[in-house]
Amino acid sequence: MLTDLVQIRKLTEEHKRENKRFEKFIEANPGEKKHFKRAAGIVEPKIDCRVCGECCRSAEANVSKTDIRRLARFLKLKPSEFVRQYTMAGEDGDTILRRSDPTGCVFLKNKQCSVYEARPATCRGFPHVSMSPQWIFDRLYSYPERASYCPIVYNWLETAKDLSGFRRSRDNKA
Ligand code: SF4
Ligand code: SF4
Repeated sequence: MLTDLVQIRKLTEEHKRENKRFEKFIEANPGEKKHFKRAAGIVEPKIDCRVCGECCRSAEANVSKTDIRRLARFLKLKPSEFVRQYTMAGEDGDTILRRSDPTGCVFLKNKQCSVYEARPATCRGFPHVSMSPQWIFDRLYSYPERASYCPIVYNWLETAKDLSGFRRSRDNKA
């Protein structure tokens, strides 16, 4: 399994066109969606999120009202105080956990989530490679971007290509 983030970023960039072709391939061959789950079963147990934390540095974490109530309770704050201290507007205007570049989420400490038990729903499900095949297919366009910083998604996508009848590009840079 490849976990080197520099290599992963480089290869995801090189696989841009191939990943687009893979999306079209799955669309034309819906039976191949079954490989998403198999690929998740192979990749997820082999990558330890506790030594990574890159998603918490790279991606915005949206918070719902339920997330805010749970996090506020966990930190013994009023929800309004939690919102004031720990949230901000994301790129598309949604409420997200406060973050800054390059350190990422305000709750990330030494590659670990300091509010793990109360983390938002979106963090619990990430990186969403074990969802139903149709759920993944409906969002397949978004996975290559996620693969550029998440070793699980990168290896999952490559494994799904290998398991299916997809033919890779000879030269991914072309
Ligand atoms: S709340 Fe925890 S899991 Fe979610 S982005 Fe922040 S540090 Fe990561
Ligand atoms: S989900 Fe991906 S980016 Fe996040 S900690 Fe695990 S391997 Fe790293």
